[in-house]
Amino acid sequence: MTKFVFVTGGVVSSLGKGIASASLAAILESRGLKVTLIKLDPYLNVDPGTMSPFQHGEVFVTDDGAETDLDLGHYERFITTRMKRSNNFTTGQIYKSVLEKERRGDYLGKTVQVIPHVTNEIQDYVRRGAGIGSPEAIDVAIVEIGGTVGDIESLPFLEAVRQMSLKLGPTNSAFVHLTYVPWIAAAGELKTKPTQHTVQKLREIGIQPDVLLCRADRAVPDEEREKMSLFTNVQLHGVISMWDVDTIYKVPRILHEQGLDEMICMKLQLLTKPADLKRWDRLVHEVEHPAQQLSIAMCGKYTDLSDSYKSLNEALRHAGIQNHARVNIEYVDSETLNEGNVDQLSRFDAVLVPGGFGKRGVEGKICAARYAREKRIPYLGICLGMQVATIEVARHLAGLEGANSTEFEPATPHPVIALIDEWQDRDGSIQKRDQGSDLGGTMRLGAQSSDVQRGTLAHQIYGDVVTERHRHRYEANEHYLDRLRQAGLVISAITQRDKLTEIVELPRDVHPWFVGVQFHPEFKSTPWDGHPLFNSFIKAALEHQASAQAQLKAVA
Ligand code: GLN
Repeated sequence: MTKFVFVTGGVVSSLGKGIASASLAAILESRGLKVTLIKLDPYLNVDPGTMSPFQHGEVFVTDDGAETDLDLGHYERFITTRMKRSNNFTTGQIYKSVLEKERRGDYLGKTVQVIPHVTNEIQDYVRRGAGIGSPEAIDVAIVEIGGTVGDIESLPFLEAVRQMSLKLGPTNSAFVHLTYVPWIAAAGELKTKPTQHTVQKLREIGIQPDVLLCRADRAVPDEEREKMSLFTNVQLHGVISMWDVDTIYKVPRILHEQGLDEMICMKLQLLTKPADLKRWDRLVHEVEHPAQQLSIAMCGKYTDLSDSYKSLNEALRHAGIQNHARVNIEYVDSETLNEGNVDQLSRFDAVLVPGGFGKRGVEGKICAARYAREKRIPYLGICLGMQVATIEVARHLAGLEGANSTEFEPATPHPVIALIDEWQDRDGSIQKRDQGSDLGGTMRLGAQSSDVQRGTLAHQIYGDVVTERHRHRYEANEHYLDRLRQAGLVISAITQRDKLTEIVELPRDVHPWFVGVQFHPEFKSTPWDGHPLFNSFIKAALEHQASAQAQLKAVA
């Protein structure tokens, strides 16, 4: 029987509910339990795919091609269970599904209402996310409810999980509430009042938390913990302090030391072996004791919000850990980059152009790719970063003046990057396709496999086959591949099914490490092994650093 832990949040958002949930899951997994995580998002968008990264941060893509909340990225990095489409749903999806049922007549003429129809639908989705009815038996499903208690939006979710826990019974469900305990500098005090109020709100709805996770900039002393325990009716040992840390990988240890997993297992009557967090300790040790460091220029346009590149930042750090190096990521706003100032990139050990949508900043990214190519600085282009590298090679090596992607220049004379149906079956001539109005439905999404050409850098990294996740609309135009090859670009991987360009690179005798990938490798990196592509990229960056230093010495 699957047991459930419902995680709610109070006072303010951005307290790290995702990390807290993932950490609890990781500790439970180390006790030998099969765990999964489900994220409920209270907004009306059907998925975050159409939301701006400024608004929502990164869109995380699962193997089965779902565009999900970035918390699912944390989940996959913290536990071994892989996330699927069913591990994340929104109010929008729930309503869509209820309204479709209503149109089909499934409700047999009844008045369709929030209670019971919407709340029942939510419970069905939660059970589906936990894999109930499927062959994989999950011991514990941790359900993270987005938003803050007291919001109108999240009310149906809270009501649904309250009902669920009632049906499950007290030994099959637990409630964890994440709250904020602010430090008021003028008074020199940690304040417990917001916590008292948020738990009152929760209890009004009929939910009594079993555990309070108290986020504060420091450890919460016993006196404040006792006060919160008394006012919120939570056992003292259930009032757990979660202070600010410099690396998220410390959180499982902090929560375990205070007995979080023990409490949850007692509540859910789960008899397990003791938790074993040795690998987390080793990881934290590696993070804190790098042997060297390096700087990477990340040339993107979503530079104001580091959440936009969450998985990418993590993947670079993981690869740093594999190479015993601290990776410093510096954001370079591609909108300000041009031929005149691109030499500011010379002080970096590597250049990375991440994924992105829209025309803004693209010429700056092309400049960055050219600079990295000409100066032999390791270059990794991801998705859009692969497309700009292709455009750059087309313009400056293949002599295709004005080459571009039809995403940025629909009338370009050389659409080296275009929508598939702009070039398929035609000889490079552009035919505007009817994109329709459904922005959520036109992407190449999820995991796909490609064959890798022997003798290439890609083959050295991946072996014969690469399977990575996608999220993009445009592709390298088949009709230009021969001309690009003649100009020196190596097409090192082609998708098995549709024969689309997956990886491009420069030969090793021309450039030490220049790779563009149409997929998003960052989604599959873990803190344990890193990711082969990023590990290789960081290694190349360290080699570049060493040879640049040797050159300097030789000159001196
Ligand atoms: N905008 C490009 C496309 O749609 C690249 C997308 C991306 O980088 N994720 O193909």
